[in-house]
Amino acid sequence: MKKLPRVLIVEDESAIAELIAVNLRHNGFQPIWSEDGESAQRELDAVLPDVILLDWMLPGQSGLVLARKWRADSRTKPIPILMLTARGDEPDKVAGLDAGADDYITKPFSTQELLARIRAVLRRRAPEQVSDSVTIGDLVLDAGTYRVTFQGQPLKVGPTEFKLLHFFMKHSERVHSRSQLLDKVWGDHVFIEERTVDVHVKRLREALGSAGVMVETVRGAGYRLTGHPPALMQA
Ligand code: CA
Repeated sequence: MKKLPRVLIVEDESAIAELIAVNLRHNGFQPIWSEDGESAQRELDAVLPDVILLDWMLPGQSGLVLARKWRADSRTKPIPILMLTARGDEPDKVAGLDAGADDYITKPFSTQELLARIRAVLRRRAPEQVSDSVTIGDLVLDAGTYRVTFQGQPLKVGPTEFKLLHFFMKHSERVHSRSQLLDKVWGDHVFIEERTVDVHVKRLREALGSAGVMVETVRGAGYRLTGHPPALMQA
């Protein structure tokens, strides 16, 4: 069965949000509605959408602030953002694009125009999805869609664990020290204790379930991801 593209609508005006949602549903999309940045963030933490429709004027954090925040987060970075702005707000449009929005659409807009814009940003994004997947044994990570599967079953992996797993899979069979992992996965601009790595490796193993044995501890050296763990070979 083909998965319907998920569209997260961040809009405080329920009448507009409902109208958009109805039209999206009729056109083969799966709309999810959040009325402010906070609930949108909770939604993003749970399941990543394929597109975000982001209203400019929101209670609490503005669309501009949210666009910047989601662009700075490696997990939400690849998701196209379409900003909804009020008519004639030219500086807003420029600021929105500067903040990392992929496109903007001026209210009031026609359904056809909105659908065309959504399809356009999805098309632009499509090539990355196919090229950025890594496979080690039965474990598959797709960086474009932020999905991880083991033996075809989807796994729930948190954002930091996802980054860690992505790094491990791109550099499998090699041993990485804790400080190397901090540097490569967390970035050297962040000061974090090495113990943090252990915490996230533990969480990653738990998230991977029976594939958790693929993440090996190499005593006195660090961690590595292997496609040939002893426990899996026996199974
Ligand atoms: Ca609004």
